[in-house]
Amino acid sequence: MTENTRIGSNDKTTSGTPPVRVRYAPSPTGMQHIGGIRTALFNYFFARSRRGTFILRVEDTDQTRFHPEALEDIYESFRWLGISADESPAAGGDYGPYVQSQRLELYREHARRLVEAGRAYWDYTSASVQRSEGEEAVPYNYSGRNLSESQIREYQEEGVTPVLRLLVPAEGEAVFEDLVLGRIKRKHKDLPPDPILMKSDGYPTYHLANVIDDHLMEISHVLRAQEWVPSTPLHLLIYGAFGWDPPQFAHLPMVMGKDGSKLSKRHGSTSLVEFRRQGYLSEAVTNYISLLGWSLDDSREFFTRDDLESLFTLERINKAPAVFDYRKLEWFNGQYLRDLPEERLTAELLPYIQEAGWAQSPASAADRDRLVALLPLIRERLKVLSDVVPLLRFVYEEVQQWPLEELIPKQADAASAAVWLDAAWQVVVQTGTDDEQTLDDALRVAAEKLDTKLGNLLMPLRVAITGSRVSPPLVGSIRELGMERAAARVAGARRVLESETN
Ligand code: GLU
Repeated sequence: MTENTRIGSNDKTTSGTPPVRVRYAPSPTGMQHIGGIRTALFNYFFARSRRGTFILRVEDTDQTRFHPEALEDIYESFRWLGISADESPAAGGDYGPYVQSQRLELYREHARRLVEAGRAYWDYTSASVQRSEGEEAVPYNYSGRNLSESQIREYQEEGVTPVLRLLVPAEGEAVFEDLVLGRIKRKHKDLPPDPILMKSDGYPTYHLANVIDDHLMEISHVLRAQEWVPSTPLHLLIYGAFGWDPPQFAHLPMVMGKDGSKLSKRHGSTSLVEFRRQGYLSEAVTNYISLLGWSLDDSREFFTRDDLESLFTLERINKAPAVFDYRKLEWFNGQYLRDLPEERLTAELLPYIQEAGWAQSPASAADRDRLVALLPLIRERLKVLSDVVPLLRFVYEEVQQWPLEELIPKQADAASAAVWLDAAWQVVVQTGTDDEQTLDDALRVAAEKLDTKLGNLLMPLRVAITGSRVSPPLVGSIRELGMERAAARVAGARRVLESETN
């Protein structure tokens, strides 16, 4: 077979190690999620670390589940992650087109070859049931395997369009060495009965298109999620039926939630766009995802994209499932936010400030300056960019209400809270906010005098000033507001407590 000669001998046998060519092959049926992005990144890092080629191929053969916004989300996710494919629908390349729905003629031609070789057959008996992919509703009973010519003619006269089925031999087994999981074997008789390769709508199924494209695009390594392991024996049969050498396979470990079940919406956000909206940084997400099933040396945690582009190896991929820990990701994000240069942090935060209605769009120089001035107050407390809104609301907006349950420390009542608030504010007025240490000492002394904890003095004041218990550091917040605005807020909170004591 010509292809066989081309691939088998040129690349794999005569020139030593074949060039690394890997692909990310998403189906545009839903938004990009953590698992998919992990696959994309691992492929990308592997390609870069081996000076290979990273390909983006869009697998849109299931037309019933195609969503244009899912397609846009693939490109948008790549842009956000800062990764680009060497060959893709946008970048082009010598092996295109890179969108499967534009390759239909190729699949049809290959389908005919399989039939001619006696490795697949047209089944007229299940035509009407199969337009979309997935499990067949009724298990196939080989009804289409041995139709007589006259039966076929009858179906044709009725206008039935057949589906193409792979002829799965009853004997033998598929064996492959997975680069992560080791040797995997599956008896042919345990495979699904003669799976469909081409549907009655003329579109190939995932199995057929995936194998043909991986071959024609000269993919050297298939790095994909472990859920595809059961499909691989079937793919090997298809490679064999064409007379092609299969690529190498590396199935990536599952991504689980903390409870040990597969990561899903039940655990929290799973799509990249949700993490983006909440204000995770691309570098933090990339860093954290790179550790989902991979490690350099079991201890180092921080990696830039550049690091990963040179350090990534397949050998260090774990077999064991990876656990997605939302808190750990948040922690990474906080670390990255802390180190972000002022200009970049401002640029990242501004959209949230604009959305809250606190800055114009586009932002004016004054908007920008104001935010820059506020950064020292919040930088240490930001876990995600969107935290900026609750943290700075007290600066940009007047406090409208002071929730009682926030104003009153635990196990205390409104009367004591009022006393503590008065005392704390008095200290602030007397001491001023210029020297934090002096103010802090004075507040401590006042608390002792009142025979209470420092926290009981600070909490009512914090809530008075900011309207919330979660806020930037207190002294800085007062300084930001100025004494006059701060005093008005203390008076407001005081009235709330008073109405409760009367
Ligand atoms: N289109 C498949 C998916 O959506 C690709 C699986 C593979 O990499 O072979 O995951």
